[in-house]
Amino acid sequence: MSIIPLNSFARDEWVAPSGDTSDLKSAVDGRVVARIGGRLDYAAMADHARNVGGPALRAATFHDRAHILKALAQYLNERREALYELSYDTGATKADSLIDIDGGIGTLFVFSSKGRRELPDDRLFVDGAVEQLSRSGGFIGQHVATPLRGVAVHINAFNFPVWGMLEKLAPTFLAGVPSIIKPASATAFLAEACFRMIVESGLLPEGSVQFIAGSTGDLLDRLGGQDVVSFTGSASTASMLRSNTNILANSVRFIAEQDSLNASILGPDAEPGSPEFDAFIREVYREITAKAGQKCTAIRRILVPADWHEATVDALSAKLETTVVGDPRLAETRMGALASLAQRTDVLEKVELLSSEARRVFGDVRSFEVHGADAQAGAFVPPVLFACDDPDGASRLHTVEAFGPVSTVMPYRDLDHALALANRGEGSLVASVFTHDAQVARQVVLGSGAFHGRLYFANRDTGKEATGHGSPLPHLVHGGPGRAGGGEEMGGIRGVMHYMQRTAVQGGPDIIAGVTGRYVAGASTAEEELHPFRLRFGELEPGRTLWAGPRPVTLEDIEHFAAFTGDNFYAHMDEEAAAANPFFPGRVAHGYLILSFAAGMFVDPAPGPVLANYGLDNLRFLKPVEPGASLKVRLTVKQKTRRNEEYGEVRWDVGVYDQEGEQVAAYELLTMNAM
Ligand code: NDP
Repeated sequence: MSIIPLNSFARDEWVAPSGDTSDLKSAVDGRVVARIGGRLDYAAMADHARNVGGPALRAATFHDRAHILKALAQYLNERREALYELSYDTGATKADSLIDIDGGIGTLFVFSSKGRRELPDDRLFVDGAVEQLSRSGGFIGQHVATPLRGVAVHINAFNFPVWGMLEKLAPTFLAGVPSIIKPASATAFLAEACFRMIVESGLLPEGSVQFIAGSTGDLLDRLGGQDVVSFTGSASTASMLRSNTNILANSVRFIAEQDSLNASILGPDAEPGSPEFDAFIREVYREITAKAGQKCTAIRRILVPADWHEATVDALSAKLETTVVGDPRLAETRMGALASLAQRTDVLEKVELLSSEARRVFGDVRSFEVHGADAQAGAFVPPVLFACDDPDGASRLHTVEAFGPVSTVMPYRDLDHALALANRGEGSLVASVFTHDAQVARQVVLGSGAFHGRLYFANRDTGKEATGHGSPLPHLVHGGPGRAGGGEEMGGIRGVMHYMQRTAVQGGPDIIAGVTGRYVAGASTAEEELHPFRLRFGELEPGRTLWAGPRPVTLEDIEHFAAFTGDNFYAHMDEEAAAANPFFPGRVAHGYLILSFAAGMFVDPAPGPVLANYGLDNLRFLKPVEPGASLKVRLTVKQKTRRNEEYGEVRWDVGVYDQEGEQVAAYELLTMNAM
């Protein structure tokens, strides 16, 4: 295979490596696979992102950007074989590549889908409900979020060159912010191949993505308050970068994911022979060997009831015995190589440090078999298992992360002790617990939640559906406090918000309605002759209103409704019992009767653009309706969301009022309307 010159992509041009370059070597056999290096005009790249990429992205709506993410995911999906092939030279097996490559593409799909379902087809995000700030509702507040006007600099770790890039790109792009992506050098040849596909897809607007193969030069010194740095890697680099004087002076957002001494706990209720014990052993084994332990979420500390310390060591050792370490291209290989020889040196040093506090019970780093490859030329290490009898007295075991297939079994006395030990990691990305006892789970969440970004419970019921201790999911938060960096990524739409500014907007209802494109209570409405059900999606404007009624409510109506539906609840049917209830003056109309009468008043029955009633939100019955009352209904277009070329969702604000003009029911009606 020829040596790949890794290009950067700056200002929408490919830039070949030049000047001081370095060779990147295959993790498997040490041959040179790529060349990286060179300097770029970093200030011009940042300006290009801000002046070309940002405006293009912000001109699109969340839904437009979500559609692009889906098309991009499909484009990469069709080309992933080429990425698997390159991935072997990072030391990854095919199973590891599925986590990195398919996992990355899957993340694009999820963000696309969430963007279309949970974000509006608009350019600003309305965050939460209107806040009433005055007695009569003439002055209100509403939080909104808009995309930052700067650039997001993504600095990625070597272990997941594809997933790491895409899991940061997806929420940033969806937010409407351009990215400059800097992969870790060791595995940048895989990241560059994937990035090249992204550019070649032609799907992304100019300036929305750039790529640095090599150093970031003075880029961080060029950032301002509208920019974001999103970093994954070591705690020492994170601390160095986040203390950059320019980053500090300009309050540049800095999201960090770094070292994490993740724990897995065998619940006090799970003993050898139980399904939980078996699942625990399988999961710990998988986490030690997957990606050769180079996962930020891998299990470093294995906490078990003291009675089961030796049983755990025996069961894990027996599984580790079956691990074939070797050339990741070979089908028999279970565990490939570390990403580089430098990484091997680092892991071996950490193993040495850990052996001062624990006894090694499995794995000899000086002598082990490597299948189909040269043990010295490639970055191979065997799985290493330690056991520690005094985890309270240990310190390195809770602070030093060997970023490889290395883990330590520790005994605990009771659940509180287990949690105290888990918390000694001083902040982690994830802790898992294998228990069949929901009260154990609650105690774990209360006692340990503050120390972990994610808590993962598995047992006999979760079986094969459980997604795995080590798998961060785009729907859920990935990140952790303290040692884990204090950052948070993904978590669905929460992750998009890291790249947007939340602003509290205050004003009168008409101003807030105009800003958000949504009707709010108190804003002006427009009534016209033509019934709004006769208008197509594109013809309806927020504020368009219909008043209908009146409709009397009689005792016969209530009794008829009770007989017809079978709902004979005493508040509608028994005068004495109803009057004894503090909420009711006597017999009152069913809430569902009020809703039905409301529909009867506002519905325009002939076929037309309204295709379906597809639900109600935020329904409240505000005042009892007695026989003899007379109802009116107001139907106001609140918000519109395009779904596809043929139809869109209309959210109607509905108020039902009695003869005194007091509101008796409030809800939002959802209809699908033809374009
Ligand atoms: P580093 O912190 O060395 O590198 C992380 C990223 O930062 C790389 O892209 C690196 O680029 C970049 N970087 C390094 N120095 C600078 C700088 N001065 N300016 C800008 N960017 C810089 O971590 P590694 O990826 O080498 O991994 C080392 C350790 O990090 C692992 O052993 C592990 O302990 C931890 N780690 C933790 C992860 C987590 O999420 N918890 C994930 C991965 C690693 P370059 O490669 O070009 O130096």
